[in-house]
Amino acid sequence: MYPADGGAGLQPLVPLHLPDSERDIDANRAPWLDGAPEAPAPRSLPGGVHNADVAVIGGGFTGVSTAYHLSKRFPDKRIVLLEARTLANGASGRNGGMMLNWINGVDSRDPEGTQRVYKATCGGIDRIESIIKNHSLNVRYNRQGCFEMCTTNERAEAAHARAEKLHSWGIPVKYLDGNALKTHLGLTGVVGGVLDPSAGQLNGVDLIRGMRGVIEAAGVQVYENSPVIAVKEGATVELQTRTGTVRAGAIVLGTNGYTPKLGYFGNQVFPLHSHMIATEPLSPEAWAKIGWTNAAGFSDDLDRIAYGSLTASGSLVFGGGSNAAYDYLYGNKTAYPGSPDTAMAAFKAVRQRLAAYLPDTMNLKISHRWTGTLGITMARVCSMGVRGANRNIYYALGYSGHGVTLANLAGKVLTDLYSDNHEPWAKLPFYQRNMAYIPPEPFRWVGYQLFTRLTGRSPRKVE
Ligand SMILES: Cc1cc2nc3c(=O)[nH]c(=O)nc-3n(C[C@H](O)[C@H](O)[C@H](O)COP(=O)(O)OP(=O)(O)OC[C@H]3O[C@@H](n4cnc5c(N)ncnc54)[C@H](O)[C@@H]3O)c2cc1C
Repeated sequence: MYPADGGAGLQPLVPLHLPDSERDIDANRAPWLDGAPEAPAPRSLPGGVHNADVAVIGGGFTGVSTAYHLSKRFPDKRIVLLEARTLANGASGRNGGMMLNWINGVDSRDPEGTQRVYKATCGGIDRIESIIKNHSLNVRYNRQGCFEMCTTNERAEAAHARAEKLHSWGIPVKYLDGNALKTHLGLTGVVGGVLDPSAGQLNGVDLIRGMRGVIEAAGVQVYENSPVIAVKEGATVELQTRTGTVRAGAIVLGTNGYTPKLGYFGNQVFPLHSHMIATEPLSPEAWAKIGWTNAAGFSDDLDRIAYGSLTASGSLVFGGGSNAAYDYLYGNKTAYPGSPDTAMAAFKAVRQRLAAYLPDTMNLKISHRWTGTLGITMARVCSMGVRGANRNIYYALGYSGHGVTLANLAGKVLTDLYSDNHEPWAKLPFYQRNMAYIPPEPFRWVGYQLFTRLTGRSPRKVE
């Protein structure tokens, strides 16, 4: 059970007055773009009909990693990637950067299942690292380890017991008490935490822009500003954009939180908007004074999870931490901010939570604030598989805030499924998973508003 808000040790939120200078910050730019490799000018799908073996929809981690693995495995296949805006426009270029193990919503109950999930996700992080190294990509990342923080003694004890159990199963996580944690992160109000030393932080824009060069060199045709507006299924799938049409033997839905808009998974996945901020960059010495010396990032144990990580240039990116930091818009709307006032309230709430954890950050300037669209499922477990009467609609989605590793892993999984090799993935919890039902509008929006306001939690179904 996740606590709604505020464990016993958590600091109360302080009143916050944003300086006028901060009101002018670009309301929707993530710091991952700063210093990232240049992107070429967007090229839309030309008019007419284009034939392909596989058409990938979406230029985030899922789409780009699938195009990467497919083009490596099948160098002679014609692969087209269609992105609505520009690559990394979605969550992959707007996230908290934490490259984590595990699958959200899956509990570590039996040793075999737990080891399988750990092996798959840790292998996923290793694969990201080898892609970067093998292609000499200019990607800022680290594997300094991420912490899961506990805000009450009771949950710290449970986390301690769980960490010891995992350790006895050969998984190298480590419990640290509040004092030991102080040497890593300097957070106020946490009583313990679990370190996963193989996790880390990744700049998603760097990775996607780097991989773009690799897939294009392998012959993948990348088209931006080319939203797919209709999908017509068949032995050959037809994808319509405003300019042209792609006819492909198979398609990949790499659209995560945006997928319901394409007419798929509308009652299993919903787009949730999550707000984040980044502080001005500081030197490692300045962070050490604040208390952050040796960690890629952390998340807490609250239902409205707060999370933060330190970028290579020394900015702390931070998000979540309260109801106000998240939003669901009627009818699966994916564009945000809707209104500057609600967005401002969200950013303020995020900053208050950051100041409660790291009071010294109150004096820092905020350099960026932005919003990203997550694909959430009711049980928080994602799904990867193939569907359709012709078994040619491949999908991977619903990572529920845990997709930096998983959406990159998805490219390998979907390429194996396309090769008819299901065996390596069939026992993983995401394999062809039937995600829990979410009611349609208006019940969805009304239910979300009522539930979050009355309980302080997000709607969740424990499976
Ligand atoms: C604020 C925030 C913080 C997060 N923090 C973390 C974190 O710290 N760690 C973690 O593991 N995960 C985190 N996540 C989740 C993670 O970023 C996502 O799970 C992951 O990036 C999903 O990748 P994706 O490629 O499936 O989707 P996306 O990156 O969303 O890509 C989908 C792409 O599809 C495009 N598209 C949509 N519709 C169409 C269409 N009709 N035609 C063509 N293209 C279309 C979009 O423009 C977009 O570029 C966070 C997410 C957010 C929003």
